Amino acid sequence: MENTYLKPLPVPDPDSEPFWQGCKRHRLLLRRCTDCGRLRYPPGPVCAHCGSRAGEWREASGRGRVYSWIVVRHPVPQEVFAAEVPYVVALIELEEGVRLASNLVGCPPEAVAADMPVAVTFEDVSETISLPKFRPA
Ligand SMILES: [Zn+2]
Repeated sequence: MENTYLKPLPVPDPDSEPFWQGCKRHRLLLRRCTDCGRLRYPPGPVCAHCGSRAGEWREASGRGRVYSWIVVRHPVPQEVFAAEVPYVVALIELEEGVRLASNLVGCPPEAVAADMPVAVTFEDVSETISLPKFRPA
């Protein structure tokens, strides 16, 4: 794939690399603490609940609900985003209980509602990065 994607791309670090590798394979992975069992998102080296460094990666269902959202209607300073207004930036609460900030796609901004069921979909934007986005389920 030629890299023609002009928007900023995530830069995986050692803590988030497995998450982005999962996205590349169109799998949504979450870091789970193997000491207290709670999920860590965004992935970091230490569990915010118990301080443990132990953890494992588990695939999430990819299903969730719209927790909150905004509709971007004004062109922002970066030209590459201006062509896409209006678009939706949403906080998605996954079935597993963690919240991800993402875009809601495949749905007019006017149709977005609180608690709307959504499912993950992946946008392949470069050779190494696929972005997790959400669509109505
Ligand atoms: Zn823990």
